[in-house]
Amino acid sequence: MSIPSDHKYYKELEIATLAVKRASKLTKKLSDSIATTRSSGSQIKEDKSPVTVGDYAAQALINHAIKINFPNDEIVGEEDSESLKDGSEEADRLSKKIFEIIQEVQTLTPSSSEKIGDLTDIESIYKNIDFGNSEGGSKGRYWALDPIDGTKGFLRGDQFAVCLGLIEDGKVVLGVIGCPNLPATIITNEETSGTVGGLYSAVKGVGSFYSPLFESDDFTPLSQQKPIKMTKETSPDKLKVVEGVEKGHSSHSTQSDIKAALGFDEKTVKKQTINLDSQVKYCVLASGQADIYLRLPINDKYREKIWDHAAGNILIYESGGKVGDITGEELNFGNGRYLNSQGVIAGNEAIFSKVIDSVKSVLSS
Ligand code: AMP
Ligand code: MG
Repeated sequence: MSIPSDHKYYKELEIATLAVKRASKLTKKLSDSIATTRSSGSQIKEDKSPVTVGDYAAQALINHAIKINFPNDEIVGEEDSESLKDGSEEADRLSKKIFEIIQEVQTLTPSSSEKIGDLTDIESIYKNIDFGNSEGGSKGRYWALDPIDGTKGFLRGDQFAVCLGLIEDGKVVLGVIGCPNLPATIITNEETSGTVGGLYSAVKGVGSFYSPLFESDDFTPLSQQKPIKMTKETSPDKLKVVEGVEKGHSSHSTQSDIKAALGFDEKTVKKQTINLDSQVKYCVLASGQADIYLRLPINDKYREKIWDHAAGNILIYESGGKVGDITGEELNFGNGRYLNSQGVIAGNEAIFSKVIDSVKSVLSS
């Protein structure tokens, strides 16, 4: 199945793709520069400025792409420009870097400019960052943007993602995720292969698709992308689980208990667990390289942000999987900037309810 050019979301997909590709190129440059300074030993461990520059720059150009094409759409974005405008030396230094990297990536991707425009001054960069201030909600149409999801992974030189979802009346209808450092195939934490850089897209009622991220800057119609499907695996000795890397973002010990409850063998469980930062977890799952995603809360206060899950959510549904909170309920994207639930569990259709049963039994014991 593909998306005809008169499809309801054809233009949305095209614009989202061009913008995510351009932002992915920008963030990949910064990610590579961290890797280089790191290997030369000159990187100060605490210097977070590459990720800050990347976050703001990517949000500015993606918001701009949306606003010039869909002026009435709102955007729920992670960043705002306030701290860039406080007149401090640091703010001016960051603003200059943001401006420069945007100019550089626009020059590198000239074919995108006709459809997604160019940003040419710092004031319009600030203005476009701040288009991300929507409160979301259960009515109307808005985008959810995480310009760099997985900042911890980005700073380690590992996985991160540029994530853009379109939400209508509280339901995600389209998602595009750029994964600049993700190899096409992930076998275990140690073993990977294939092209690095993947673009994962999903449209409601159409399906989920993969294409190489950096092969071209242009929009590739879905008919020329690779359809992806979740597995139907249910056997505990074959199941694979994706989880975060950061122990502060999900409870790895509860996740271990759940795997034990599902019948995983403790001798093989390590090889069956793949740790990845950001929404690349959803991409690995949707493309059939893993079967389950566990994100168990570390406390009952934390509420997930909608931009951390919107694009990944539709990618899972459209590839034949299911997503819920720790009670198995579908995630509600119409609750504002935050989800009102706890935790995230995803799985193929055949295993999902069994995983939820295990989650419930572990959490109640
Ligand atoms: P991951 O790469 O899967 O660890 O997820 C990264 C996202 O975790 C970030 O974008 C944060 O918004 C989010 N995050 C931060 N603190 C927490 C927390 N305590 N629990 C769950 N997620 C968190
Ligand atoms: Mg995030």
